[in-house]
Amino acid sequence: MTHARKPSMSTAALSPEELTRYARQIGPGVLSVAGQTRLKNSAALVSRVGGMGGPAALALVMAGVGRLIIAHGGRLIAPDLNRQLLGSERTIGQPRAAHFADSLRSMNRLVTVESIDHEPTDREALELTRRVDVVLSCAPTFEERLRLNSAALAAGVPLIDAAQWGLTGTLVAVDPGRTACLRCLYPQPPEFEEMFPVIGAIAMATGAMAALEAIKILSGTGTPLFGRLWMIDGHRGLSRQLDLQRAADCPCCGPSARPAATDSRRP
Ligand SMILES: [Zn+2]
Repeated sequence: MTHARKPSMSTAALSPEELTRYARQIGPGVLSVAGQTRLKNSAALVSRVGGMGGPAALALVMAGVGRLIIAHGGRLIAPDLNRQLLGSERTIGQPRAAHFADSLRSMNRLVTVESIDHEPTDREALELTRRVDVVLSCAPTFEERLRLNSAALAAGVPLIDAAQWGLTGTLVAVDPGRTACLRCLYPQPPEFEEMFPVIGAIAMATGAMAALEAIKILSGTGTPLFGRLWMIDGHRGLSRQLDLQRAADCPCCGPSARPAATDSRRP
């Protein structure tokens, strides 16, 4: 399916340089020239560009998304290097967002990369979401994941939620107002969230598949994961999918949903 485009969206054609650069992904069953052009004229937000979001951002940049906004706080530490592939031993101690953005720019100068050096607040998440065509939530906490879910619903922008723990990864794609949102799936976030240990391979695999979903949505290629939960069990080498149903009483996407919050908890 092809998602609706924003009226203000550019429709710039591919340059000869871009046609050459992306030649090995343009062809039957992958991207058409029109699909690659749509990708070029699209923007994506990846919030948290660590173990999952880093590979997701990298895949989007390499594929030729036009504009990418990344959000991540803090400085790189040695324990990050089992999974955060946008960092390196040379950048330990450096602010993640700025250096990860530089790393992405070095992979494809044809892509515009913006970065913010902290996790978005409610208000920022909504503002950022209104500037893009797809949101990738690669955040480690339910609080952040649900914040991005609310922002995507309020802005009418598709959301890809990627999560991981241990050797397991999950993906959910939300088409706002049409398919189940993250709150439909998780009415009550767990009281305790296990973040570590995690092996980089499952984080990277989950992030890469999140990017693939975004590329499909942006380019109009294939069938997006909308309305399904994809669980990847790395322990047993299995994966399965569940069809999701919207919750009639969902406080985020149901009839009682309020407009997105505009808090100013943090700048
Ligand atoms: Zn919902």
